[in-house]
Amino acid sequence: MTPVIALVGRPNVGKSTLFNCLTRTRDALVADWPGLTRDRKYGEGKVGDIPYIVVDTGGVSGYEEGLDLEMAEQSYAAIQEADLVFFMVDARDGVTASDLMLAKHLRTAGKKTQLVVNKVDGLNEDTVLLDFFELGLGEPFPLAASHNRGVTTLITEALEWFPDAEPIDPDALQGSGIRLAIVGRPNVGKSTLVNRMLGEERVVVFDQPGTTMDSIFIPFEREGVDYTLIDTAGVRRRKNITEAVEKFSIIKTLQAIQQANVVVMVLDARDSVVEQDLHMLHFVLQAGRSVVLAVNKWDNMTLDDREQVKKDLDRRMSFMDWADLHFISAKHGTNVGHLFASVQKAYESATKQWSTNHLTELMNGLVQEHQPPLVNGRRIKLRYAHLGGRNPPVIVIHGNQVEKLPSSYHRYLENSFRQILDLRGTPIRFEFRSGE
Ligand code: GDP
Ligand code: GDP
Repeated sequence: MTPVIALVGRPNVGKSTLFNCLTRTRDALVADWPGLTRDRKYGEGKVGDIPYIVVDTGGVSGYEEGLDLEMAEQSYAAIQEADLVFFMVDARDGVTASDLMLAKHLRTAGKKTQLVVNKVDGLNEDTVLLDFFELGLGEPFPLAASHNRGVTTLITEALEWFPDAEPIDPDALQGSGIRLAIVGRPNVGKSTLVNRMLGEERVVVFDQPGTTMDSIFIPFEREGVDYTLIDTAGVRRRKNITEAVEKFSIIKTLQAIQQANVVVMVLDARDSVVEQDLHMLHFVLQAGRSVVLAVNKWDNMTLDDREQVKKDLDRRMSFMDWADLHFISAKHGTNVGHLFASVQKAYESATKQWSTNHLTELMNGLVQEHQPPLVNGRRIKLRYAHLGGRNPPVIVIHGNQVEKLPSSYHRYLENSFRQILDLRGTPIRFEFRSGE
C-alpha cells in the first residue's frame, strides 16, 4: 500500500508550503473535499518511482486557552489515518503551548513521527534546533520549505521507513487480469454496483488462494476475461448490503485508484457532477489511470431531468470526452453489462504496444499536415517518436527545440494520436526531448 504522510502543526508553520513541494512533482492536483473532510487536503507525490500520499491538515491554532477543538480534531483524524506524521513547528517562534499539546498527543498516538523545524533559513540551525528536543519526539529535522531546502532529504529519508513501498507497476499483478476500482462519493451506489457486477450470472468469483474473505482484492472472470476488483466499499466484509462496515475513506479510495488499471467512477444522476467528483477525477487522471464513467440511479428520473443532466455532463465533462460514459441503474441492473466492454477497451488502450516505426510514421504524417511553428526563425523539428510507458501510454517525441512547441500543437498531437490509435478511456502523456 502507498504510504500516507500527514502534515500537522499550528497554522502558519509552513504546512501548505511543504505540501506543495511534496506534491509538485505531479502538478499538485489535489483531492480537496470540502464538506466531507473540511479542510484536509490530499495529494500525491513520488520519490523516483515510489509514490506516497500526503495529507495536509488545517492545523491546530494556538489560542491562549489552548487548542481550537475543531482544528485539533482534524489533526487527530489525519494522524490516525497516516502511516507517518511530519509534525511541523516554526523555528522563529520556539516551542509554543500548542506545540506541546500536539507533541503530547503524538507521543501516545503510536505513529512514526518526524519532528520538522521549518523556516531555519537565515538562522543558526545548530542552536535553533536545540530548543525543540524539549518536545520529546527525537531529533528535529531542519527545513526551509519556502526555499525548497531540505525537502528532498526529508522525504527520501522518510520513505526509508517503508522498505516495502514499491513502484506501482501495471504489469506486476499480471495473471490476475484487469485491476478494477469502483470509486465515487459516499452513497452514489458503489456497493450496490459491486454486488450487481459480482452477482451477475456470467460472472465467476474466485476465492483467491492465500487470502481471506476480508481481502479487498476480489478476482473474477466474465466471458473469458479475468478481472480483479479492488473493493473500497467493503462489500465483501458486510453481512448484508445495509450494514456499513466502515466509513468512506478517501485514503482507501486514493490507494485503490493507484493500484487499479481501470477506474469506474460512479456519479449520482440526481446531482449530475459536483466539485467533489471532479476532484476525485483529477486525482485519477493525475495517477494516469483509465476511466469509465457510470452515471448511476438513472431509474426514477423524469425525461426533463435526464435531459438536464446530459447537458450538464456535456458541459462540465468535456475535458475528458475520451472516456466512455454510461447511464446505469445499479439497483435494477440496467446497462451494468455495458461497463465491462468499456473497461476492456480502456484497458487495451492503456496497455497496447506500438513500435517506434509506427509511431514515427504516424508523427511524420501529422507534421506534414500541420508544420510546427518557427521559433527564432528556425523551424521546430520532430525527428522520431517512441513509446515510453504504458497505463498510461507515454509517447516520447524527440527532435530539435521540441520543448518550445506551443500548447495548441500539443493538443493537435494528442487529439490526432488519440484518434488514429483509437485510444478510448485512457489519459495520454507526451514527453518532448530535444537534441540527442
Ligand atoms: P500553514 O498555515 O502551516 O499551511 O503555513 P503556510 O505554508 O501557509 O506558510 C505560512 C507562511 O510561512 C507563509 O507566508 C510562507 O511563505 C511562510 N513560510 C513557509 N515556509 C517558510 C520557510 O521555510 N521560511 C520562511 N522564512 N518562511 C516560510
Ligand atoms: P455507496 O455508499 O456508494 O456504496 O452507496 P450504496 O451502494 O450503499 O447506495 C446508497 C443508496 O443508494 C442505497 O440506498 C441504495 O439502495 C441506493 N441506490 C444505489 N443504486 C441505485 C440505483 O441505481 N437507483 C436508485 N434509485 N437507488 C440506488
